[in-house]
Amino acid sequence: MSAQGFGPVAGSAIFQGISGQKKIIMAANIRVAHVAKGIFRAAKDTDSAVFMELARSESDLKGGYTGMTPEVFSEKMTAAARETGCDTWALHADHISVKKGDAAEVEGTKELINAQVKAGYTSFAIDASHLFNFEGKNVREELAENIRVTTELAHFIRKQMNGREFGLEVEVGEIGRKDTGGLILTKPEEAVEFIKALNENDVFPQVIAIANGSSHGHAYDANGNVVEQLSIDIPQTKAIAQALRDNQLAVGIAQHGITGTPRDLINLHFPKGDIIKGNVGTFWQDVVYSTFKVFEPELYKNIQEWTLEKYRPLNPGKKDRQIFDGNCKMAIKEFYKEIYAVDEATEKAIESMAYAESLVFFRAFSSQGSASLVRRAIR
Ligand SMILES: [Zn+2]
Repeated sequence: MSAQGFGPVAGSAIFQGISGQKKIIMAANIRVAHVAKGIFRAAKDTDSAVFMELARSESDLKGGYTGMTPEVFSEKMTAAARETGCDTWALHADHISVKKGDAAEVEGTKELINAQVKAGYTSFAIDASHLFNFEGKNVREELAENIRVTTELAHFIRKQMNGREFGLEVEVGEIGRKDTGGLILTKPEEAVEFIKALNENDVFPQVIAIANGSSHGHAYDANGNVVEQLSIDIPQTKAIAQALRDNQLAVGIAQHGITGTPRDLINLHFPKGDIIKGNVGTFWQDVVYSTFKVFEPELYKNIQEWTLEKYRPLNPGKKDRQIFDGNCKMAIKEFYKEIYAVDEATEKAIESMAYAESLVFFRAFSSQGSASLVRRAIR
């Protein structure tokens, strides 16, 4: 733990702490920092460990679409943890995406990782899942580029962390990717081959993200309305976890794209312990915007107008509601100053709502007690 006592712990310590438990640890994408205190308070009150994370698209050296660089994100999260007295959380780099895999992109990625390490990140998700060779003659050949880039970046992280422990997530099967037959799902043998190959290269992730039917953000019906559904393929997810266990690979599953999945169904049907990390992103943005609607109507209206003006021409035929929904995240950077200058009452409402919603997530994920387990693992 950090000198102040409220800095992030190693992501690996969290995974170690809950090993063998039927628990999922929430990983919250904090696009607007106002939700952080509510989440931390709920984590503390329920004795839950938690990840605070942003993806490369959300936070990079230029701030990403949240306007927060890794340094700013780290400062804001650490301040919120200290203020709320939450001491069992990890600072996670979600989707460190590499989409082409060429030398320039890998070098640029290393610069981002450098900044994240310097900012005190304790957990990293390398996402080279886009690098898939459809002409490969076998699984190993299909995944060769993903394996190569993931290995290079994982070794780089280890070197930069200089002896400090860290969490490592890797990704096989691009989440939400579709072909003519619908979503393409990861097969058990792909996950096993991928982890085995990484282990051979001296890379030992604790968690793997797979394509198992979820998509990022909301799902919509034909009229552009948001629908809530249990989209993940649970038998396939269990089969992948079982295949990993059968091969003595101690790697859990990171579930991406949880927004929109009813929490009663998560509570009753998610294979907790097979899935060990649950990413919740868009949901927290909804908490912020739904509060703005009432507490900051003028700001909300400006955000709405800016988003629709900019993205309507790019989305012909789509309903305004869906255009706003899909692109309002891009307004966060544009309205950064206004968003971080809202009334105390607005902040309080967001914090309270984030608190209550976190209690529901932590219960649905069965994460109560995980913080104590992690503290024990650290000692
Ligand atoms: Zn994701």
